[in-house]
Amino acid sequence: MSSIADNLQRVRRRIDRAALDSGRDPSAIRLIAVSKSFPQQAVAEAVAAGQRDFGESYVQEAIVKIEALAAQRALLQWHFIGPLQSNKARPVAERFDWVHSVDRLKIAQRLSELRPAQLPPLQVCIQVNIDGQASKHGVAPADAPALARAVAGLPRLRLRGLMSIPAPMQSAAGQREVFGRVAALAAQLRDEGIAVDTLSMGMSDDLEPAVAAGATMVRVGTAIFGRRW
Ligand SMILES: *Cc1c(COP(=O)(O)O)cnc(C)c1O
Repeated sequence: MSSIADNLQRVRRRIDRAALDSGRDPSAIRLIAVSKSFPQQAVAEAVAAGQRDFGESYVQEAIVKIEALAAQRALLQWHFIGPLQSNKARPVAERFDWVHSVDRLKIAQRLSELRPAQLPPLQVCIQVNIDGQASKHGVAPADAPALARAVAGLPRLRLRGLMSIPAPMQSAAGQREVFGRVAALAAQLRDEGIAVDTLSMGMSDDLEPAVAAGATMVRVGTAIFGRRW
């Protein structure tokens, strides 16, 4: 068994255990393998091991891999998880299935305008800067409901939920509390009549507290593909 296949199995076991520990159904949590900075061969290896969802942060790099794996395109779901620039909206709208990093209305409108008519609506999450990090992208929690409402009204997008990348913390309890605030924000949206079913949160080092707090998608790179450099 290849090490990528091994690592996928290990990560899946971590997710399953974290789910069971908090009384959740493990099958409710989708693993996004973050393949940024790794070559198409690594993605192909993961596909051979049964992985179907891949996360990418850089548009040009992602296109190379999406094209290299074109024969399997129908099997795969490509998730754009990086910072979005307006001038990259077209290739993202044309090639990806999901965008997790919508953080302003202008980019959402561009994606909706540019989503090809023959494709299903682009599934999107709103990225929330839950802990107010100066260096991080994402909308302030207080502004998330208005943005979510506007995005939900765009014809070629389908709002699915929230994404967040909180700063790493020493304590798992603290980390869980921060992820819990993202979950609470999603619950608030539902209370306000905005349908959301997705919480994209948790990475290699903090997937357990994210799952405990209700993550439905975890985005894991290093623990599957190894260290990036
Ligand atoms: C790189 C990246 C990940 C994966 O991080 P790891 O710590 O390698 O698991 C997850 N989400 C986003 C948005 C990323 O950019």
